[in-house]
Amino acid sequence: MKKLILPLFLISTMAFGQTNLRPQIDQKASEIESKVIEWRRDIHQNPELGNQEFRTAKKIADHLRSLGIEVKENMAVTGVVGYLKGGKPGPTVALRADMDALPVTERGDLPFKSTVTTVYNGQETGVMHACGHDTHVAILMGVAEILASMKDQLEGNVKFIFQPAEEGINEEGVTTWGAKQLVEEGVMEDVDAIFGLHISAQTEVGTIGYRPGPAQAAVDNLEIIVHGTQAHGASPWSGVDPIVTASQIVTGLQTILSRSVNITQNPAVVTIGAIHGGIRHNIIPEKVEMIGTIRTFGDEQQALVHKRITEIATNIAESAGAKAEVNIQKLYPSTVNDLDLTAKMVPTLEAAAGKDHVRVNPPVTGAEDFSFYQREKPGLFIGLGGMKKGGDPTKTPSHHTPDFYIDESGFILGLRVMSYFVVDYMGMK
Ligand SMILES: [Zn+2]
Ligand SMILES: [Zn+2]
Repeated sequence: MKKLILPLFLISTMAFGQTNLRPQIDQKASEIESKVIEWRRDIHQNPELGNQEFRTAKKIADHLRSLGIEVKENMAVTGVVGYLKGGKPGPTVALRADMDALPVTERGDLPFKSTVTTVYNGQETGVMHACGHDTHVAILMGVAEILASMKDQLEGNVKFIFQPAEEGINEEGVTTWGAKQLVEEGVMEDVDAIFGLHISAQTEVGTIGYRPGPAQAAVDNLEIIVHGTQAHGASPWSGVDPIVTASQIVTGLQTILSRSVNITQNPAVVTIGAIHGGIRHNIIPEKVEMIGTIRTFGDEQQALVHKRITEIATNIAESAGAKAEVNIQKLYPSTVNDLDLTAKMVPTLEAAAGKDHVRVNPPVTGAEDFSFYQREKPGLFIGLGGMKKGGDPTKTPSHHTPDFYIDESGFILGLRVMSYFVVDYMGMK
């Protein structure tokens, strides 16, 4: 029997490089699980809005330093970046957690419920980790502890990116995100691949979801101004009516999704959220302003949708003798999971969660600023189950709401899969 076991062991370690570190990861993850839950509760009870994550950042920096990890603070305002040099040469793998909370007043009766309040956009509001970023921070702090404990064995280096302001910050009319700013500060320059996760209140604990290629939408703001010629409402022929023209444009835009986009590949959304024009029942106004949101998946589709919006708006306006001004402001790019990296890491997901607990997610029309890292280097962003076992996802409060709830028994899988990403990637270089 011994003769059989030894060659098999050798084959498995040779073929999969550092996967032999997985049992060590599992053991350490079990040891620190309760500590990770404690950290999460502390962060949950002390939530901080984007670019104000001072307490959270200090907690992270202190912890990383205690593990012997090199720490840079105040990256992109409040970000903390840790660098763990492995014992052997190899690639640098980045892991990312976002730290910001939201202006939401927490309901429910959790013993570690947030009672923090603030004034946001002139309004009194509670502050809550209503997107689960508290869990991301605690899990990545735990992963840092796991990987630091085996640093001599690592064939490469690990960069721990704790970023601020994933939900976006609007300062003096300019919107920005922690990830975008960190990229501008060069955080991805020495990185070979990046991994991240998002906890999901609608996915059962123990389950991992992923999607190869475009997984989450690009978000762009749309503004269309239709210029007509003002006239008496009783004699429309003496002017050019921007209200009728704007109505035709709104309807025309809907043909982009039904007639121009290949819906068998990826969905897309064009929504007009507001129309403003006119002041009185018998005055045809000079102009109508419309604003909306565009959601697309991947650069090619984004370019197509932008082009069709401009063509439809300007040509409909022209046919009426009006003029349409189209302004599109790009916000988040699409979160695109590198096809090659994703294919390579699927066995890692299956090893961590079990084959039956890994699923391919449908595309999500919401956005995630992890996309900024993925534009620099290959990246994979996965969903981690945070709904209690047997829960009904249709009845579970969604992210960004006051009753948002995460079951902590799912964290251990997060610890394991993020650590596996690192050692598996290092082993397969
Ligand atoms: Zn969110
Ligand atoms: Zn989030």
